[in-house]
Amino acid sequence: MEFKKDLGISEVTLEKKAAFKNFPMVPRVVFGSGCFDQLGDILLSKRKHSEAPFIFLVDDVFEGKDLVSRIPLLFNDQIIFISADEEPKTGQVDILVQKIKEEYSDLPSGVVGIGGGTLLDLSKAVSIMLTNKGSSTGYQGWDLVAKPSVYHVGIPTISGTGAEVSRTAVLLGPEKKLGINSDYTTFDQVLLDPDLTKGVPKEQWFYTGMDCFIHCVESLEGTYLNAFSQSYGEKAMDLCKEVYLGDLEDSDSRDKLMMASWHGGMSIAYSQVGVAHAMSYGLGFLLGVRHGIGNCLVFQHLEEFYPEGVALFKKMQKKHNIELPTGICSGLTSDDFDKMIQVSLGMVPLWENALGSEWRNIITPEKLESIYRKI
Ligand code: NAD
Ligand code: ZN
Repeated sequence: MEFKKDLGISEVTLEKKAAFKNFPMVPRVVFGSGCFDQLGDILLSKRKHSEAPFIFLVDDVFEGKDLVSRIPLLFNDQIIFISADEEPKTGQVDILVQKIKEEYSDLPSGVVGIGGGTLLDLSKAVSIMLTNKGSSTGYQGWDLVAKPSVYHVGIPTISGTGAEVSRTAVLLGPEKKLGINSDYTTFDQVLLDPDLTKGVPKEQWFYTGMDCFIHCVESLEGTYLNAFSQSYGEKAMDLCKEVYLGDLEDSDSRDKLMMASWHGGMSIAYSQVGVAHAMSYGLGFLLGVRHGIGNCLVFQHLEEFYPEGVALFKKMQKKHNIELPTGICSGLTSDDFDKMIQVSLGMVPLWENALGSEWRNIITPEKLESIYRKI
């Protein structure tokens, strides 16, 4: 590294600089009602040759629907339908990668994920594991990915998670629920067609949309807040209020929620989420409670941490007549509570963002158990 000396850059300067996150953004995005029909043109320029297929990972809710006939298949491309009933698992990623490698002699030209956060994260993980050795469990964490992924495209069909912009692919592994956080995780292309979200059931629309709302609250109320995150977080928050408290036309509402999700995701890229997410991870790990509803189940009991946010949440819930299930934690043993608490307390950056560096004095295992017991 002689050149550093030549340039007069000391190791200290480099280390200081690295304290600022240098994170990748989605380099290309297309937005607009009906833009899905442009996908064929977009992929054409990325095709390596006729033997290198595009693999479309598609939420099986679309099986037999009109959307599938609009997928621009060419040569030996393949559609793989995947259920989003369960959130993505490391084992599932490994099996998909093995299947693709066995079926094709060439590396795919790319992977296209069509669906919600589940399918988007799965596609990100598969595209990484096609070029990296071993099991995906080995890459859950921060910056463990050595080689660039194959080209990958994200096409959300439900809005809220921000998975379309984030540099993580959250996976449930045998030991932990944790993302593959890397520069290679971020999509190379995103296609935002609000029409694709037309069929989302109302409850799910609320849960996944509230994921975005909670991202905003946790980012804006967090100690990591900075002007970068605030600018995106405030915009996303305004859009959420318009969508969930205003009286928008359906098409307006779809457009705005899609952009809220985008901005909410951008907001947490440069800060962190907080208490609801830290606790929801525990519910997800032990009980398989899904991300959106899990966040809602926790967030409703967090007045103490987010008074204004929780009041707004309840107003939105009331306006849309959403009843959250109860008794989720009623049959649990003390071992179960311990496991959830352990998973939750492991999310150190989330707690630090939410409550500051002295968070351990505020949030104890007893405190967490008392909140879990209310759910
Ligand atoms: P999802 O992908 O789990 O889907 C929820 C349900 O909605 C499924 O039943 C699905 O089939 C259905 N659905 C999706 N689109 C539909 C449509 N257009 N019409 C009808 N039904 C439709 O939901 P989600 O809330 O978007 O994603 C949750 C996942 O996202 C979790 O696995 C979570 O860990 C992950 N997540 C990732 C990030 C990230 O930054 N990577 C951030 C937040 C959440
Ligand atoms: Zn979330």
